[in-house]
Amino acid sequence: YFDVFEQPQSELIERLADFKTQLLVTLGRQDPLTGLPLRYSLEDDFTQALKICDRNKMLLYVVIIDVDHFKAVNDNYGHSVGDVALRHLADTLKTMVRSNEHLYRYGGEEFLLLMQADSPESMKKPAQRLLEVVRNMRVPIPGEDPLALTVTLGLACVRRGEGLDSAVERADKALYAGKAAGRDRYIVADE
Ligand code: GH3
Ligand code: MG
Ligand code: MG
Repeated sequence: YFDVFEQPQSELIERLADFKTQLLVTLGRQDPLTGLPLRYSLEDDFTQALKICDRNKMLLYVVIIDVDHFKAVNDNYGHSVGDVALRHLADTLKTMVRSNEHLYRYGGEEFLLLMQADSPESMKKPAQRLLEVVRNMRVPIPGEDPLALTVTLGLACVRRGEGLDSAVERADKALYAGKAAGRDRYIVADE
C-alpha cells in the first residue's frame, strides 16, 4: 500500500519543487508592479546585444529613463496612485520598444533601455519620440483629472570594449545633466 502511496507523493513533491523554483526565478527577476524584467539579466543581455551590434555595425545605446518630479506624484496623490502611474508608464514604454531591444525596471521610478542605432544621428528621433509619447500620455485617476508625466533620458553610446557599469555611469551623468537643464529632455553622454 505504501509503495502505491509513496510514488505519486514523490512525483507531487518533485513537481512542487519544480514549481517553487520557477516561481522564485520569476518573482526574483520580474518586477511584480510593471511585469518588466529587473536588472538581473541585464549583464547577459548587454553582452549579447553588444555582439549583435558589432556584427551588424550598429551602435548600442544605454538609455536611462527617469520620471520627473515623481516624488510630487506620491506626495499629492498617494503612493498607490504613484504605483498606478508607474504601471501605466511601463505599459506605454513597452509599446515603444522593438523586439530586439530590452527594457528593464532599473530602480524605483527609473527604467533602462538597451537600444540599437545606425549612427548617433539616428538616435535623435526615437529619443525625441519617447519624450513626446510620455508627455502626451495621461494616467486616468478616479475622481481626479488625468495625470500627466514627463521623463528625462540619459543616453550613452557604448564604447569599444566598454563594460555595462561604465556605460550606465555615463548615461546616469547625462541624465543628471538633463535634470539640471530643466528635465523633459534627453542628453547624450560625450563619446
Ligand atoms: P527628479 O525629477 O529629480 O527625478 O525628481 P523625483 O522626485 O522623481 O526624484 P526622487 O529620487 O527625489 O524621488 C523618486 C521618488 O520615486 C521617491 C520614491 O518614493 C518614488 N518611488 C520609487 N519607487 C516607487 C514605487 O514603486 N511606487 C511609488 N508609488 N513610488 C515610488
Ligand atoms: Mg530616480
Ligand atoms: Mg525621478
